[in-house]
Amino acid sequence: MEQEQFGLTQEHLMVVEAAKGMAKKLGPKMDLFNKMIFEEQRFPEEIWKEMGNAGILGAMIPEEYGGTGVGLLAMALALETLSMEGVSASLFAVLTTMDTMAILKGGSEEQKQAWLPKIASGDIKMAFAITEPDAGTNSFRMKTFAKRDGDVYRLNGQKAWITGFDVADHAIIVARTMTLEELKRQGLPKSYGMGLFIVDTKAKGITMNEMNTMGIEGFKQFQLYFDDVEVPVDNRVGEEHMGAMVLFHALNPERILAAAICVGMSEFALRKAVAYALERKVWSDAPIGAYQGVQHPLAHVKAMQEAVRLLTYKAAWAFDKGLPPAETGGYSNMAKLLASELAVDAVDRAIQTHGGNGFVTDYQLIRMWAPARLLKTAPINNEMAMNFIAEHVLGLPKSY
Ligand SMILES: Cc1cc2nc3c(=O)[nH]c(=O)nc-3n(C[C@H](O)[C@H](O)[C@H](O)COP(=O)(O)OP(=O)(O)OC[C@H]3O[C@@H](n4cnc5c(N)ncnc54)[C@H](O)[C@@H]3O)c2cc1C
Repeated sequence: MEQEQFGLTQEHLMVVEAAKGMAKKLGPKMDLFNKMIFEEQRFPEEIWKEMGNAGILGAMIPEEYGGTGVGLLAMALALETLSMEGVSASLFAVLTTMDTMAILKGGSEEQKQAWLPKIASGDIKMAFAITEPDAGTNSFRMKTFAKRDGDVYRLNGQKAWITGFDVADHAIIVARTMTLEELKRQGLPKSYGMGLFIVDTKAKGITMNEMNTMGIEGFKQFQLYFDDVEVPVDNRVGEEHMGAMVLFHALNPERILAAAICVGMSEFALRKAVAYALERKVWSDAPIGAYQGVQHPLAHVKAMQEAVRLLTYKAAWAFDKGLPPAETGGYSNMAKLLASELAVDAVDRAIQTHGGNGFVTDYQLIRMWAPARLLKTAPINNEMAMNFIAEHVLGLPKSY
């Protein structure tokens, strides 16, 4: 049997071209958009709609639900390209993909028909809320509780750091449907007794508090408080108490897309650094790019970038090919770990190349610092990525 080869198809290359076309179209407005995004923390609707039009938001969604169904590698390529071209949007697209994957893998036929076409077209935005003040890395400790009351669930509790809740139409809220104490009593695993609920962000009983955070371009983060929020049973995604199983489907795509964005960011920073290094003269007629002290850090970023890019594509390819989740998980955690380090390194070295101009916001580099740095901590911190590699790839014992 012929061995499958790792590589890009014509379809993948067309997706890259579509993303480049989108970036070119938006190019003349990017200064204005960047002002909105980075100075006013507002997200330009036009970018989101264009991502819908270019088929990027629907990449994971089959055609029968209004998507393009081109898959994760294609979506990763598109987000990498947008980041590389300096079009911000991508990080919120990763969060929306969490919703997409949950509905796609765990949702009922009605839910798929109701939500997926609108996500694909960019007509709606969906937030994803799992983190709580005392349950971030260890989400099993979450306390937000959804109590079944006939045809509805009543949601009570609190979330934190939830991105874009103010501009999202709906959000998937992850909640416990059984307490940890109850699970212990019944001898059930802590992954049981969880639920994913599609909630209207304007529903009665939800209070939002804006947080003073940075990191996701143009989107704010919120603390959320739920006071007896009524959620129809039909809005539960997946079987009763089985939300964690649905959630697991979204984790590898989340990590792979985050990695792809990092690779794109590294290229954006590198291009800026090289252009500046070729132009800036400090000691003689030779530009600073002639000094090895300036060249080598950039050359190192380029070499790392090539390696990380391949790993990221391989992780996405493994997902698209349906390799066992633990194997794909190995690649996706490795990619996310290295890609986030690459992005921070690339932005840091580009800032250094620019001297004082690295801190002038017009050069866009200092603005990239928070998004790049965020990706070492979220959506999963790099220590947990290494824990996954240690346990699932190397077979070492779990230590926590
Ligand atoms: C800008 C921004 C946007 C966000 N958007 C969203 C969103 O939209 N939706 C959402 O649900 N969440 C969101 N988050 C939350 C984010 O996913 C969490 O902050 C992240 O998962 C870490 O959780 P925590 O802050 O509770 O860290 P903690 O769990 O308190 O961990 C702190 C640190 O301890 C270390 N650590 C923890 N456990 C281990 C271990 N077992 N081994 C080794 N080291 C360990 C890690 O270094 C970790 O960074 C966002 C966060 C930020 C900053």
